[in-house]
Amino acid sequence: MSLFVRTIVRKRDGAELTEGEIAGFVRGVTEGTISDEQAAAFLMAVCCRGMTTAETAALTFAMMRSGETWDLTAHGFVGDKHSTGGVGDKVTLVLAPLLAAVGVKSGMMSGRGLGHTGGTLDKLEAIPGFATSLPRSEFDRLLETVGCALIGQTDTVAPADRRLYALRDVTGTVESIPLITASILSKKLATGAHAVVFDVKTGNGAFMSSAADAWTLGRALVDTARAAGRKASGWITAMDRPLGEAVGNASEVEESIRMLRGEGPADLRENVLLLGTDLLLASGLERSEKGARARLNAALSDGRALDVFARLVHAQGGDASVCDDPSRLPRPVAKVDVVAPEAGVVLRLATREVGLLAIEIGCGRRTKDDGIDPASGFRIRKKPGDAVRKGEPLVTVELGPTAAPNETYFRRLAACFEIAPPGTSVSPLPLAVERL
Ligand code: URA
Repeated sequence: MSLFVRTIVRKRDGAELTEGEIAGFVRGVTEGTISDEQAAAFLMAVCCRGMTTAETAALTFAMMRSGETWDLTAHGFVGDKHSTGGVGDKVTLVLAPLLAAVGVKSGMMSGRGLGHTGGTLDKLEAIPGFATSLPRSEFDRLLETVGCALIGQTDTVAPADRRLYALRDVTGTVESIPLITASILSKKLATGAHAVVFDVKTGNGAFMSSAADAWTLGRALVDTARAAGRKASGWITAMDRPLGEAVGNASEVEESIRMLRGEGPADLRENVLLLGTDLLLASGLERSEKGARARLNAALSDGRALDVFARLVHAQGGDASVCDDPSRLPRPVAKVDVVAPEAGVVLRLATREVGLLAIEIGCGRRTKDDGIDPASGFRIRKKPGDAVRKGEPLVTVELGPTAAPNETYFRRLAACFEIAPPGTSVSPLPLAVERL
């Protein structure tokens, strides 16, 4: 029996693997000496048997070391954030320039849409000219000149994750807390931030819909990042409804610009402040939560955060005039209101389904080769707990030039809103569900 097969069998039978066995597996994945079949069998064994904290840490560190590890000490303190993803989650677009505006450098390597969730890179690329495929040298230049950088994953960072992620996607092994932890953290730790704040979503629009799973994943992320010597903190936040009002790409950029002017929706502001406060405290520039919040709020109100965003857009090749005039972003060619069939109170919003319906009009990809229609999206008009009158808009559908939904589509969207009789008491999740 080969060494790899012995490792697979031991995990299959529930043994705790040694650091050496795990490092050997990751080396084999990176160098291509382990076949897809063997790697997939290992992943399934982990999925079924789980991993101890020590095994998860060993897997994370081995995957992190499978490629470049960036040392950012020359930049002073650099903060980063990770969200487990949701619908309408545009926090990165606001948080990165906001932190830079208050003196905290933030370097973030973001992803594309995954499943029913939107991707930060797709949103940024709705800005004409905005480039996200940038090398390390550009990341450094942006941190020095603008104070923040928003780039896509490079081939050189955590290459083992790239291969394992592709295999997990087609072998039913995505939903495993140790595998998710190692996948997320191997990339986060490799890019060198000194502190990371985690935003773990829970509710029917989150990957971890149950609060218990969100808690387990959040603890694993925070504890493993700390074990790697980084400052780490986190929040479990609500994803039982989209965040903010805009769901899409150009519309989410426009909402972010409004937020950077101090005008955006209250839930988006609160989500940004929760994470921003943690990183501002971790940087040492502020000592109290109250002081950190005041500093962040001031930079949103007085235009400093928007000014940094405009400089970032320009430095990453984008048309910064969208910051003064968001109508220069891709615009929908038609808008259709989906209205309440009766008066009442919104009891539940099928958030995951809303995300999937957004993909159908071009907000995300159904296959990896699909294009995006940046002008398409939704404006969510009502959320759980809101009263509605008969005929009042629940959601406005914004259609880009390539979107052509049929009547059934609008019926499916209307069905995402469950309406209870007037006066029914509804308890949506609080935005900040729990501190990790
Ligand atoms: N995001 C990642 O990068 N990896 C996962 O496994 C899940 C979400």
